[in-house]
Amino acid sequence: MNGPQGKLDVPEAVSAIARKLQDRGYDTWAVGGAIRDALLGESRGDWDLATAAPPDAVRKLFRPSYPVGIQFGTVAVRGIDGQVYEVTTFRRDIETDGRHAVVEYAETLDEDLARRDFTINAIAYDPLEHKYHDPFSGWQDLQSKVLRCVGTPATRFAEDYLRVLRGLRFAGRFGLEIEPSTWKALTDAVGNLPRLSGERVREEIVKVMAAAAPSAGLALYRDSGALAVLLPELSRLGASGWEMLLATIDRLPGHRQHLRQVALLAPVGPAVEETMKRLRFSNAELRDVQALSGALEVPLPDADARAGRRWLREVGPERARDTLRLHFAGERASGERQAERIRLAAVARQLLGVLRRREPVTLADLAIDGNDLKELGLRPGPEFGRILDLCLDAVIDDPEMNEHERLIEYARNRIER
Ligand code: ATP
Ligand code: MG
Repeated sequence: MNGPQGKLDVPEAVSAIARKLQDRGYDTWAVGGAIRDALLGESRGDWDLATAAPPDAVRKLFRPSYPVGIQFGTVAVRGIDGQVYEVTTFRRDIETDGRHAVVEYAETLDEDLARRDFTINAIAYDPLEHKYHDPFSGWQDLQSKVLRCVGTPATRFAEDYLRVLRGLRFAGRFGLEIEPSTWKALTDAVGNLPRLSGERVREEIVKVMAAAAPSAGLALYRDSGALAVLLPELSRLGASGWEMLLATIDRLPGHRQHLRQVALLAPVGPAVEETMKRLRFSNAELRDVQALSGALEVPLPDADARAGRRWLREVGPERARDTLRLHFAGERASGERQAERIRLAAVARQLLGVLRRREPVTLADLAIDGNDLKELGLRPGPEFGRILDLCLDAVIDDPEMNEHERLIEYARNRIER
């Protein structure tokens, strides 16, 4: 068999945990995503261990340790490096309803690997002997860039429909071809995705968006039909609108996840509140998407300071930079002509200049406030707001107007008696 070769760079703390368990006679392996990623040359901190030791034995052997998902047999153990590693007792699925699996402890590593979703996630590594155990040829699939279910695809998806989304995510992230029978079963299963909770779907979408280039995973969401089921609001986009959306998201940096989220969800339009609530996004995330989608609708100003101040007033100075980032990404995505790009850069320079010089663009920037209007004999009410807005108009036109005395005078002349 064509198995993986070579030592993996396993943290000493992981080997130490494995050694302690092995010394007590418990078969113990490193498993899952960390092996996959290490074989691909990506390093990561979260190594998981699978062991024949029952959870109680793990808890006794390692202090401090605490149960994280005791119903799943997972114990969190603090390694000698201070990091926390998950040690999970071998298990097998005994019953499933498509939403979550009921598991029981198993005797052997083979049983444990058989319940894993994809062959690339079912490779085990012995960090002491530097041996692999790869009964489903996950290494071969990794090398030939194939995503394949462990076992019979239709059965595996029916056990847990989250695997549909996990599969799309892994295929997108690693550029894998989905093997035909896995793909057939996956597309047959997409109709069951609404049975997953909104939280789990959201978590998956967020993970797709965290890839270096989310477009690959998102394209698979669309091609498989998952998008039409989970985000029908977006599947209505035409082919060119969708391509633009993907290209825009790829051009937003990964460390600005919230902007990617805005780019993805802004095209939903007025229904975005319902969509984001369905997927259990937080209210703060909803407000962020709504505010920035609104800001994107405000046409960009000409490259002069006065127009810039007007735009900043409407968009809100605190949202200006993010709005510009979204415009830049959209523009690079569309491959706009160079003239357009130069124009956007000039506009951005103007706007940033206004912000840097702290020119007045909001009511809070005015050199007068409500108390001053009261002193002018005005009672709080709609007239208050009208006068302050007029003052803001005036200082946006001419920032030199933003002096206490001048504005008091200006306001006094505009009060209707
Ligand atoms: P990443 O954390 O980078 O998203 P991962 O492979 O580590 O990828 P986890 O969700 O952390 O994914 O799960 C760890 C391992 O547990 C997986 O590699 C896989 O072997 C197994 N696993 C996780 N979820 C499922 C599932 N729904 N069905 C079957 N096996 C699963
Ligand atoms: Mg993981």
